[in-house]
Amino acid sequence: ATRSSAQLIRAEAPVLAHNYHPLPVVVARAEGSWVEDVEGRRYLDMLAGYSALNFGHRHPALVDAAHRQLDLVTLTSRAFHSDRLAGFAERLAGLTGLDMVLPMNTGAEAVETAVKVARKWAYEVKGVAPDRATIVVADGNFHGRTTTIVSFSTDGTARSGFGPFTPGFRVVPYDDLAALEAAIDETTAAVLIEPIQGEAGVLIPGDGYLTGVRELTRRTGCLFIADEIQSGLGRTGRTLAVDHESVVPDVLLLGKALGGGIVPVSAVVARREVLGVLRPGEHGSTFGGNPLAAAVGSAVLDLLETGEYQRRAAGLGAVLDRGLAEIARAGGAVTAYRARGLWAGVDVDPALGTGRQISERLLAEGVLVKDTHGSTIRLAPPLTITEEELDAALAALRKVLA
Ligand code: PLP
Repeated sequence: ATRSSAQLIRAEAPVLAHNYHPLPVVVARAEGSWVEDVEGRRYLDMLAGYSALNFGHRHPALVDAAHRQLDLVTLTSRAFHSDRLAGFAERLAGLTGLDMVLPMNTGAEAVETAVKVARKWAYEVKGVAPDRATIVVADGNFHGRTTTIVSFSTDGTARSGFGPFTPGFRVVPYDDLAALEAAIDETTAAVLIEPIQGEAGVLIPGDGYLTGVRELTRRTGCLFIADEIQSGLGRTGRTLAVDHESVVPDVLLLGKALGGGIVPVSAVVARREVLGVLRPGEHGSTFGGNPLAAAVGSAVLDLLETGEYQRRAAGLGAVLDRGLAEIARAGGAVTAYRARGLWAGVDVDPALGTGRQISERLLAEGVLVKDTHGSTIRLAPPLTITEEELDAALAALRKVLA
């Protein structure tokens, strides 16, 4: 017999690690901006898989690309070439204005890869003394969950109990060029930052910060690594968040939406001088760049090359911004919010409840969101959302905050 949502939630507790605290909804189907639970209740998805579903659930062109590739070949490993990989890499490099691609699977793997490549570049190109390379990161960062990545997290929950940690990282305040400059020295391989900090609550640095990071890293001779795993691929109204300041980093990290919400696809995209330091046997991944990933990734690039999704994010982003401004003006419920494109962090007056409680109230209204820290909720709908759907989500938010 099929089990109810309540039964399935109860069944998870003894057999699934409790490393998440999901909202009590059990999704069984999805299409576009909507998901449907086991009982057939429909919810508007305003989280979109933490931006992995920028093109909505089961976008027809992406599902079609996956189906076609399933009938040809799904995995070669990089022991052999595949007929899908060259085109994917050429087009990804072309879209980003960079030279070379190293395909991986998850975001954390792309970050790990960038850390390794930046260190090797520091020793072989910059001439840093062996094992002395440092990487400067920002307070409040989120780059993933591996032991090396949590080594430079500033979130106690992410780190506590997982030491000993990987050395070689320096943490500076985000959006502070003077602090960044002070932390850079002759050992610095790279500066690794999120152009907008997503998990921290959609923190948008001041105008000129990204340009400043670019100038500073160029002047001091270290790499600028931009982690656009969450901010990239249309979310902010441009292809990349760094495009808002017309900045090209040395190394760009992509993931999430690159796999269209169908397969995990991530990539390190970089200048040839940087990725060129790797030689056979020094790094790899069994699934990285597999034919199914490359086929879906290429179909994602087809969508991005039209510019339609970036335009939608910019246009509907203005609607989102206006709606949030209205709610913020109407009373004390929203103490602050930050928005760029179809992406917003909304700080709710703690007196009205925690972010978790607000999320649960929105769930009851048929809208899915997730809290980030404390009383902040994050809105990141699919870029395919309609204006009517967005208005409905804003109305639900107005109602639960009233
Ligand atoms: N980097 C950023 C900016 C992210 O937002 C995330 C995930 O939220 C990651 C890296 C890690 O990606 P993954 O969960 O695919 O390992």
